[in-house]
Amino acid sequence: MIGSILVLSGPSGAGKSTIISKASKDIGDYYFSISTTTRQPRKGEIDGKDYYFVDKNTFEDGIRAGDFLEFAEVHNNYYGTSLKPVREALDKGILVIFDIDIQGHRLIRAKLNDITTSAFITPPTLTELERRLRLRSSDNEEIINNRLENAKTEILSVGEYDFAIVNDNIKRASYEFSIIANVSRLKHSQVDEATFIKNWLV
Ligand code: ADP
Ligand code: 5GP
Repeated sequence: MIGSILVLSGPSGAGKSTIISKASKDIGDYYFSISTTTRQPRKGEIDGKDYYFVDKNTFEDGIRAGDFLEFAEVHNNYYGTSLKPVREALDKGILVIFDIDIQGHRLIRAKLNDITTSAFITPPTLTELERRLRLRSSDNEEIINNRLENAKTEILSVGEYDFAIVNDNIKRASYEFSIIANVSRLKHSQVDEATFIKNWLV
């Protein structure tokens, strides 16, 4: 059995976490890849649920040990996807959902393109993104400005994704996401296809 991958990207504050949590009951069985990061936990974030929070040395040990399927430096911190749980979920035929940045999406495409679907999530405008980042009030002024600057670059990659979701209305955006997740589950690799054909030809 080989599962499928759904990569979700978009500027910080676009609503990715909110959408995944709202849509989760409509997606069926899936595994959410919990990333490892060197950034500080935000208020309310739980280690092992939102992220695995580690220091820089621990993260760099993980890089040397080959623990990451992909990793990137985003907003001056390391973020990475652990290979082992993803491989286990894929081996069980489960849909794996990633909330990763545009660099991570390119790396996953390079390695696992045939089972990957992707969606880029964004608020309707940069001004609305700024409003949400300030309302979330989890980051200081410098971090918010850094995220807004990065968003101007990130939006240029929207065309690399299979789908774009404009998150102006959370209910509609979550609905669109659940449709994309259910469709991405149906995307199978060539290996799976070969087995399917072999079993069919009896
Ligand atoms: P991300 O995971 O992409 O960084 P979040 O899910 O944390 O973004 O959302 C950022 C902020 O925007 C949160 O305070 C969230 O409640 C809010 N938010 C999400 N979607 C909407 C929406 N459609 N309209 C208004 N606010 C939203
Ligand atoms: P935040 O700090 O807002 O949680 O995340 C910042 C950015 O890092 C977001 O664009 C998010 O998608 C990305 N990110 C989170 N985890 C990973 C990961 O494991 N790999 C990569 N490449 N990006 C990640």
